[in-house]
Amino acid sequence: MWKYSLILQHRCPFEEEDFCEVVEIYQTSPQEESEDFDTYTSYGSSDLMSLEELERAYLDVKKDGVNTYFYDTIGFYWDGDAQGFSLLSDSEPEKLRNTCPRCAKELYP
Ligand SMILES: [Zn+2]
Repeated sequence: MWKYSLILQHRCPFEEEDFCEVVEIYQTSPQEESEDFDTYTSYGSSDLMSLEELERAYLDVKKDGVNTYFYDTIGFYWDGDAQGFSLLSDSEPEKLRNTCPRCAKELYP
């Protein structure tokens, strides 16, 4: 099972809104019947390219709200190459930036 989700990446004190991204989230086990965020343990880019996909993403996010699972359990770092936040577990040491470029807040100790 998969669905669209709005994942929280960073709460920045200098921005009015939190940094979030619409992605596709994937369930660990396809047999899972739970809709809970903690059964969806990986994600990939959403590549929204049609009105139908946008509508489904809108409905999924409207139903579930903001997904803080990855923020709470793994965390994100600022990826300068991608100019966005990436999941810590995907990081390569040489690409790692451990502070937010806007608030300079440490994203992890
Ligand atoms: Zn920040």
